[in-house]
Amino acid sequence: MASRGTPSPVRRCRGCQRELRQPSDVGWECECGAVVCPDSDCFDEYFKQVAGGEATRCRTCGLVT
Ligand SMILES: [Zn+2]
Ligand SMILES: [Zn+2]
Repeated sequence: MASRGTPSPVRRCRGCQRELRQPSDVGWECECGAVVCPDSDCFDEYFKQVAGGEATRCRTCGLVT
């Protein structure tokens, strides 16, 4: 799905569309491609902490990691 001429497209937070240029800019990501910045509002919109915070569920695909 990558556009031609962009071997490493910049990922963006799904919540606020902020560019996530470095690994430290990423708050959480899932193997389905969902990725958010460290902002708790964005995190809560796309992920949910379960098991008392020991695990995280992706709201997009339901995967628990
Ligand atoms: Zn964000
Ligand atoms: Zn997912």
